[in-house]
Parts: sequence; C-alpha cells; structure tokens
Amino acid sequence: MVRTRIAPSPTGSLHVGTLRAALFNYLFAKSQGGSFALRIEDTDIERSDKKFEKEIFQGFSWLGIIADEGPLEGGPFAPYRQTERIGTYSKYLELLLSQGNAFYCFHSEENLERERKELMAAKRPPIHACEYRSMERAEAEMLLETKGAAIIRFKTPLGKIITFTDLVRGEISFESDLLGDFSLAKGLTAPLYNFAVVVDDYEMQITHVIRGEDHIPNTPKQILIIEALGFLRPQYAHLPLILGSDRSKLSKRHGATSIDEYRKEGYLSDALFNFIALLGWSPGGDREIMTKEEIIKEFSLERVQKSGAIFDVAKLDWMNGEYIRKKSLVELARLCIPYIEDFFKFKIKNSKLKIGDIKKIIALEQPRLKKLSEIGDRADFFFREPVYEKELLQWKSMRTDELSQSLDKSYDLIFNIEFPVSKEAVEKAFFEMIGTGDKGSILWPLRVALTGKKASPGPFEILSILPKEVALKRIAAAKGLLA
Ligand code: GLU
Repeated sequence: MVRTRIAPSPTGSLHVGTLRAALFNYLFAKSQGGSFALRIEDTDIERSDKKFEKEIFQGFSWLGIIADEGPLEGGPFAPYRQTERIGTYSKYLELLLSQGNAFYCFHSEENLERERKELMAAKRPPIHACEYRSMERAEAEMLLETKGAAIIRFKTPLGKIITFTDLVRGEISFESDLLGDFSLAKGLTAPLYNFAVVVDDYEMQITHVIRGEDHIPNTPKQILIIEALGFLRPQYAHLPLILGSDRSKLSKRHGATSIDEYRKEGYLSDALFNFIALLGWSPGGDREIMTKEEIIKEFSLERVQKSGAIFDVAKLDWMNGEYIRKKSLVELARLCIPYIEDFFKFKIKNSKLKIGDIKKIIALEQPRLKKLSEIGDRADFFFREPVYEKELLQWKSMRTDELSQSLDKSYDLIFNIEFPVSKEAVEKAFFEMIGTGDKGSILWPLRVALTGKKASPGPFEILSILPKEVALKRIAAAKGLLA
C-alpha cells in the first residue's frame, strides 16, 4: 500500500511550500488508495515551538488536507512527534556506531566553522572529511568520557556513486566524495534531520518521499544511511521550486508566504486547495477549476513538472473570485460578516442592520468580489456616508446647473415612491421618467451621490437596499456639493 508523509518542522509560520508538499503527498496517497501521515519534526528544540505546531494542524485542517495518522489522529506507528521517539533513534545510532558506519567526531564548533570558511574561501565544497573516522570505538568512548560530548557522524564511503530514480526528475547521481562525513546526531539522544528522517520513514513504512527539490542534496546522504542500516529505500519525488511572478524563489518580497495571511486576506480554503494543487502539477488541457474529488482522481506524479512553479497572485485572485461566485448566499454572508465587522469595527448584531439587508448587500457584490477582505471597502456606502470629490458627479459635458437638475429629478422620483422598493419597480419608474433621454445624465450623478464611488453596483440595486431617507439625504448632499 502507498504510504506518504509530510514532516514539517514547527519552527516558523506555515509556509506555502510546506502546504504544497503536504497537499501533493495527500493527493498522491488518496489517488492510490493509500495513507498519508503527518509527523512533526521537532528535534530542533531551540527553534521548535508549540505555537507553530498548532498553526500546522489548523492550516491543514482549514485547507482540507486530512492526515490519516498524526499527533492528533494517532495511528499504528505512533508517536508522530520526533521528540517522543528519541529511544528509537538511539537504538539505530548505536547500531551504526557498532557496525563502524558511524563515529564520534570531537572537533569543536569553532574548529568546524573555521574549516568551513577556509574551504569556501578556496572555492571548495564545504564538506568535513573527518580525521576521527578511523579512531577505534574503544578509544573514542574513552575520549567521550573526558570531553563529555561529541557529534556522531556517518563514515561516508569514498569513491562511491549514489544513484536514485526520482519520479519527477528521472535519474540523479551524486559522488560520495562530495558529501563528506556528514553529521547524524549531536549525541545519542539528539538526532539530526538526515538521520531521524530515514529512521522514521523506515519505521513508519513510508513508500514514497515527496518533498521540495531543495532536499535533493540530502537524498544521497539519506540513501547511504538506509543502505548501512539495511532498510528498504522509498521512492523519491522532488517537487519543483515555487517561484514568484519574477521567477525568483518565492519569498516575502512577493507578498504573503504564510497560509494564515492568505486566510486572513479572505481567500477561500477550497480556492487555495485548487490553486496550490496546480503549483507544479496540471491535469493536462486547460482545466483549472476542479473540485477536491476531481483533483484526487486525476492526480499523478508523472504530471508533476520539473521547471519552477509560478505562484501567480493574479491567478489566485481570479480563482478565488470563481469560488466566491459558487458559494450560496447564506454561506458567503457567513464568511463575509467577520470582515464587515472588522472593517467597520462594529458588531452587526448590535447595529440597526438586518441580516436580510446584509445578505442583499453581499449578493450585490458577489459577482465582482475577488477576496472576502474587499467586502468592507466595496460596500462601505451601505454602512456610512460616502465622501467624494464633486468632480465625480460629472457626466460628460453637463453643466453644474444641469447636474443639479438631474439630482432634483431623482430626488423627486424617490421621494414619491414607496419604500422598500424592488430593483425592478424603481428601475421601471426611472426609465419611465427618462423616456428617450440620455440615461447616463440621470443615473451617473445619482449613482455617485448614493455611493461616492467611480465603480459600484447600479443605482437601482442600491435603492432596493438603502432606506429612503438615507438615499434622499445623500442626493441632497450631492446637490450641496455642486452649489
Ligand atoms: N522537516 C523537513 C522540512 O520541513 C522535512 C523534509 C522531508 O520531507 O524529508 O523540510
């Protein structure tokens, strides 16, 4: 059975890259009828934080990436937090040491740092070929007693070519001589990434390791550990880098990179799910809007591209708008209300607004809205008096007195009809009044008077929501501006 995993480190906000890796692991497992596990890589005690762990759980659940196994779900290979698995790592470290595949290195951090700098300056790869690799175990144990601590390193075989077939990128080879004696742990109970990940993937029977291509250089190291321990090698699939629209690696410079920022900005989880699934994968053809079920059905690693995946915010906005359009009004209202309350700093339940009005306002904006956070600004004229320059009232070359008369006509018409009024009824009344005249000469100044905006829904829709006295007051105010 296919078993995949995502192994995030809770050392920072949940990044788009982690989410994409999680999603592809989830999609691949689900498309194959397999299982997907979440494992928290929290061995970096100083940088790991429960706050970030929570962000991972919440981010995944919000997006709909559901782990079959994990710290919260439990599962057959629990525990799913590395700090709770220390005993397992010690066991395999002991094994590697006793086999002679690992050794204690007594170089100090300063020593190693100096060596690294010198190698870099000489334009040589910053690897550590350690002279302790041939020290007898007994001697090393004695030295360990006096020194108290030592790094455990892998005794990298020399002159070996390590080759693996990546499911995205094809065959990849590395020379072992360029890896150096890389570190496995800071001590028997302090495993480091390359080692711990191998042990966990083996113990959890992971069949496919799907992760960002920045991990390609780690793969030969992991393969050497796997071979030394006699483990089965999983299949690897390295996903293309995520790039900003200028084709450089996605970073803060391009806008938000943490998923929580996208949620707060009012992107919908199903839109992001769809968008992130297309970051390096495509179903073929020009299909873009797809449900979660369709994506799972179509997903395959063969269709993952090698070249960088562009994170195109304009496309995300478009896609989000499409998902907003698909929402039922009730659902969209529920999603928008917190944004309205936040924008105007009030609670709808304490205001005069009725939920029916809110729904009408949202229905008006639904065809144009790209993200939920725009709702306050787009619909602000329903909640407060518009502020605008009188030039905005100008229609073609109408004179001020003509504009003023146009507003008078609208005022009188509205004054004389009964509110609440339907869009159709008010539209009919206006068209009767305008007859064969220029519609814009009446409707432009009216719409601006009601909204204070260059672009907004039409005046009839607005009049079907705005109370009569508010509409009249605004038209009078517009006249005042012209005077
Ligand atoms: N903790 C690693 C990361 O977050 C996991 C990499 C892997 O999947 O092997 O990048």
